[in-house]
Amino acid sequence: MSVANGRQFLSIPGPTNVPDAVLQAMMRPAVDIYTGPLVAMTDALLVDLKKVFRTKGKTFIYAANGHGGWEAALSNVLSRGDTVLVLESGRFAIGWGEMAGVMGAKIVTLPGDWHRAVDPAAVHKRLAQDKAHAIKAIMVVQIDTASGVVNDIAAIRKAIDAAKHPALLMVDCVASLGCMRFEMDAWGVDVAMSGSQKGLMAPPGLAFVAAGPRALEAHKSANMKTHYWDWTFRQGPEHYQKYCGTPPEHLLFAQRAAFDLLFAEGLEQAWTRHAILARATHAAIAKWSEGQVMSFNIAEPAQRAASITNVRMAGVDTDLLTNYTREKCGVTLGLGIGGYQGKAFRIAHMGHTNAPMVLGTLGAIEMALKALSIPHGSGGVSAAIETLAAAVPA
Ligand SMILES: *Cc1c(COP(=O)(O)O)cnc(C)c1O
Repeated sequence: MSVANGRQFLSIPGPTNVPDAVLQAMMRPAVDIYTGPLVAMTDALLVDLKKVFRTKGKTFIYAANGHGGWEAALSNVLSRGDTVLVLESGRFAIGWGEMAGVMGAKIVTLPGDWHRAVDPAAVHKRLAQDKAHAIKAIMVVQIDTASGVVNDIAAIRKAIDAAKHPALLMVDCVASLGCMRFEMDAWGVDVAMSGSQKGLMAPPGLAFVAAGPRALEAHKSANMKTHYWDWTFRQGPEHYQKYCGTPPEHLLFAQRAAFDLLFAEGLEQAWTRHAILARATHAAIAKWSEGQVMSFNIAEPAQRAASITNVRMAGVDTDLLTNYTREKCGVTLGLGIGGYQGKAFRIAHMGHTNAPMVLGTLGAIEMALKALSIPHGSGGVSAAIETLAAAVPA
């Protein structure tokens, strides 16, 4: 028996649900790449990216996924042999650091625990040891999609300043931009990067990088630069230089439509929506956890991300649950990654997502818990509804 026929729910942490208006924006013939509307659209998108990153710095658009954005960020500011400090809080900063290693940087990791945020005091301590200032850049993710943690970027910046350390602060915002507050300039972030396919509601394929003045200064002498990612070349006078080749036109039309939706809602309102939907999700999981099988991967509520929740299960293979929701209900959940395979699953509440979508996903999970006789506290969905009704008064 299955009740999966109907609109399929993709509740994975990227790519996320693409709004119909964004899909429709791509249904058009290709346009000229030298003249006409595309040229003005590029300029507008670069300005809109400044609004989203909250920066007066330079913004860049790449035909690439998030990994491409990582390489763009690193190659423009580092030189071979530079030391970088990676702040572990899940899989993603580690992955970004490994990429820096392959590109010729020396990696120093501040080991982290996948159950809590980066500790700013530990960052301060580590930097204070680096008296010679060998560390050139500090790499951190705002929301680590693997663990479901949110790191306090402003507090990390304060720790760097307190240690009077000159390293660049580089932040991965792939799973957080558009989902929660990010203040590139106010928080003193030197390089920030993101992608189109998560909170920014467009299909995968665009990477975004923003560079502040200290990063642009480091760029001048960086020797990891390569032609495709190079910020200097991309600031040249010709439109094609902004993409180092043919612009990914249809994705640009898509991102245009997605930004129009985001700005119509209001960036800060979108953050609030994410926060409310996250709280509703947490309310359900708190109830289910009473059954002693499920638990939050991130114990401290304030450290749980607004866009993604990681739920562990003890003694039950999570594939049973995720297979059930997918095959019987048409709801695809995120699987555990980075050692969490079969031990955790992930619920995305990221991007173009509203209360019925989150309730539908939570409802399918509760249905699976009952059908599979997995011990759980009852009333998780009701708790989510209570949270939503309290947060959204008439
Ligand atoms: C998804 C994600 C990435 C990688 O993006 P890809 O488009 O898959 O290359 C990087 N960092 C974070 C935090 C992510 O969530």
